[in-house]
Amino acid sequence: MGLEQYKGDMEMCCRCSACKWVPMQRVAGFKFANVCPSISRYDFHSYCGGGRLNIGSAMLKKAVSYTPRLLDIVYNCQMCGACGVSCNYAMDMEVMEPITEFRIKCVEDGKTHPALDKVIAGLRKNGSMVPVKGKRGAWASGLKLKDATKEKVDVLLHVGDLTSYDPSLHKLAKATARILEKAGVDFGIAGDAETSCGGEAYEMGYKDDFLTQAKKNMALIKEARIKTVVTASPHPYHAFKVLYDKFKLKGELKVLHISEYIQQLMKDGRLKPRKKVDLAVTYHDPCHLGRLGEPWIHWQGKKVPGDRFVFDPPKKYRRGTQGVYEPPRDVLKSIPGLKLTEMTRIKEYAWCCGAGGGVSDSNPEFSRWTARERIEEAESTGAEALVTACPKCEKTFSEAIEATGSRLKVYDIVELVEQAIE
Ligand code: SF4
Ligand code: SF4
Repeated sequence: MGLEQYKGDMEMCCRCSACKWVPMQRVAGFKFANVCPSISRYDFHSYCGGGRLNIGSAMLKKAVSYTPRLLDIVYNCQMCGACGVSCNYAMDMEVMEPITEFRIKCVEDGKTHPALDKVIAGLRKNGSMVPVKGKRGAWASGLKLKDATKEKVDVLLHVGDLTSYDPSLHKLAKATARILEKAGVDFGIAGDAETSCGGEAYEMGYKDDFLTQAKKNMALIKEARIKTVVTASPHPYHAFKVLYDKFKLKGELKVLHISEYIQQLMKDGRLKPRKKVDLAVTYHDPCHLGRLGEPWIHWQGKKVPGDRFVFDPPKKYRRGTQGVYEPPRDVLKSIPGLKLTEMTRIKEYAWCCGAGGGVSDSNPEFSRWTARERIEEAESTGAEALVTACPKCEKTFSEAIEATGSRLKVYDIVELVEQAIE
């Protein structure tokens, strides 16, 4: 188990470097052809997806040992999944799974990053991956929302750590709640009882802490007899839908991101965006809603003996194509007056905002560098605003825009929907 189970995948890497780029057949030009923030920033092969597999493979053979440089490579990865998608355009092999297992191994071996240790200490103490300020459910004060831990509801709205504790993002949780109210959805929140989904702890390598959080969340859901969870952020969406399923903890729970749910409510005629929002926008696909949000595939089988990497039954790979791409676009297109222009790297080939894999805590400079590249790409479309569907992306972009003096505005999709239905 652990990293060992991906020995064959790691040895299969032929060092072709396709994991650094948008696939050749889809490259639109010299600019914005790269997909991996890490290799683009550090310009040394070990920092790309393939390089990380080569190191993992060498580690299993005891050909390398932990050094400060090796750990620099491990922790300067956004865990965004773009390398896996580009590799799997042609190759049948796991990329993100061994990269994740390598991080888990680092944590098990005590080779952690101090900034991430601090985040995890906060998680263990407060059930939050971000610093705690006030009460978790304080964002809902003034709104008369049902407490899903006490009253029966059709839908649990899970807000997430960052939106709960960052007062500058409370507007997103409030907009989400007002949209659901407007559509007449019978929903509730867990308020102060809500706890971190734990997904980011897993990506940082702290598997046991992730499992603790996953079990806590599923116990709350079972106790409240919740059948559907709607998440306001792609991070809990990815955790509940993909990771909890991977570890067989999800059961029959239905998990929807707010953009999927709004699309459904619009189709059903329960939300009607009638008010004009005159704005030229471009849309950023959050990694955890897009390629990483693709459902988990449970596979059981064995490798066919011999040199070739062939399995019986054939193994299916998550190639990023089944992520949530159309619902947010459909929602934006339904808003009168709004003009959507696409960036060069979209959907499974989207460039990360810079906040993944704990990098915003361990290396904020790299995080801002990554965000600036996306802002430049957004500006190249001529859009007035960059729209995303993730509070973490919104915060990362807003901070980078403030630092660069760009005139681009940033919105979460729920802010524009709320304007259109008022
Ligand atoms: S990870 Fe895949 S795309 Fe990257 S170098 Fe290895 S085989 Fe090539
Ligand atoms: S997960 Fe993202 S940052 Fe890390 S190696 Fe892959 S593409 Fe690069």
